[in-house]
Amino acid sequence: MSYRIDAPASAIEDIPTTLRAQPSRSTGEYRALDAAHHIHPFSDMGSLNKAGSRVIVKAKGVYLWDSEGNKIIDGMAGLWCVNVGYGRKELAEAGYRQMQELPFYNTFFKTTHPPVIELSTLLAQITPAPFNHFFYCNSGSEGNDTVLRIVHQFWLTQGKPSKKVVISRRNAYHGSTIAGGTLGGMGYMHEQMPSKVENIVHIDQPYFYGEAEGNLTPEEFGLARAQQLEAKILEVGAQNVAAFIGEPFQGAGGVIFPPSTYWPEIQRICRKYDVLLCADEVIGGFGRTGEWFAHEHFGFEPDLITMAKGLTSGYVPMGAVGLHDRIAKALIENGEFNHGLTYSGHPVAAAVAIANLKLLRDEGIVARVKSDTGPYFQQRLRETFANHPIVGDIAGTGLVAGLQLAEDPATRKRFANGGDVGTICRDFCFNGNLIMRATGDRMLLSPPLVVTHGEIDEIVSKAKHAVDATAQQLGLS
Ligand SMILES: *Cc1c(COP(=O)(O)O)cnc(C)c1O
Repeated sequence: MSYRIDAPASAIEDIPTTLRAQPSRSTGEYRALDAAHHIHPFSDMGSLNKAGSRVIVKAKGVYLWDSEGNKIIDGMAGLWCVNVGYGRKELAEAGYRQMQELPFYNTFFKTTHPPVIELSTLLAQITPAPFNHFFYCNSGSEGNDTVLRIVHQFWLTQGKPSKKVVISRRNAYHGSTIAGGTLGGMGYMHEQMPSKVENIVHIDQPYFYGEAEGNLTPEEFGLARAQQLEAKILEVGAQNVAAFIGEPFQGAGGVIFPPSTYWPEIQRICRKYDVLLCADEVIGGFGRTGEWFAHEHFGFEPDLITMAKGLTSGYVPMGAVGLHDRIAKALIENGEFNHGLTYSGHPVAAAVAIANLKLLRDEGIVARVKSDTGPYFQQRLRETFANHPIVGDIAGTGLVAGLQLAEDPATRKRFANGGDVGTICRDFCFNGNLIMRATGDRMLLSPPLVVTHGEIDEIVSKAKHAVDATAQQLGLS
């Protein structure tokens, strides 16, 4: 994408000056100031500053506009979070009203407030029956830090302080605090992080297309990968293992869907060895699969649920941990839990979360993902990419999907330079005004849950153009 540095066109020119949140500058000015003063997350700032960032200035529904006036369809719901779509007044008004009534008060010292009470009551209704207690934080990373704190406190209350080790998976994403990064299994994050949290170990991921050897069926492979958990528990000693944590399907790792045999076996092993089962639902939660929570889709029952992203549709930051009744009971009956954040249960975030959850429920958005838009999206992707020369597999359900790019789909042969191929495809998407993410050789889609059939058609056709162009550039079309 080449920007005209001092082009006057601006997508926010149609918003009256008095209503703009920020003064409007030219793209060139924005990019110069951004390069001068802003360090971006997960970015090589040297090369980003040379190329310049795309400046997003407004959004509505499933569309974004950049400072050059380009209209872009958002196939990623921001960062997997804008479940109700952009520009919903109900959320803006809920935040505005709450800021005037009570912008902040803490929940530490024997105090509480209506928004956090109402949100907790609503979450108890929306989550599966055994989840009736919620602890709040500001992000998914803090949610997983909180999960660790709860797990350790639980085993202390059970008189089993030796149960300290938490088992996670390679290529998992659990956030970027020190604990989140240690729990995650992204090699590049571990390399940059010499200080780790203790007592965290990893097993392999259930990634059939990429890692199954020989002629195992997906079901056999799923079982084998789950049984690595049993082997690891026996190696560490069950008396030392506190918990297993996993995303029901891996998001940032490439939208990797485990074979159907995987989660039932994981659950069986956790129960057998008295190991807590933690579901990181930061992406899977709040309707992405067509169920309220992805563990319901896969048919298992966790002890702890990490939530963030879709909890507020990203309009303001908020995370939470849901506690199964038996975990909550142990915490409630055993003295002080020494953990909290200034903004635990922030009233404005809670008010926005309530408005968001009511839209997801009362407008039937989650139900529609299950019965209508989800199946339509999956069907359109599968018919569009069937027999495509460089698409090996399509994973997903509801409104989330991962396309496996492959050099020879017939033999499951992957590209030697898969990451480069993903980047080529991602750049074609970018130029075609479609936001689609690349993780290595997998192309990811996770649109807002309010996406219509027409918008799904647009996403799928733009994705097809980008994948076709990639095949052509590689001489494989
Ligand atoms: C995004 C994500 C996190 C981290 O959430 P932050 O709000 O970025 O801290 C944790 N787990 C999963 C599965 C995620 O996708």
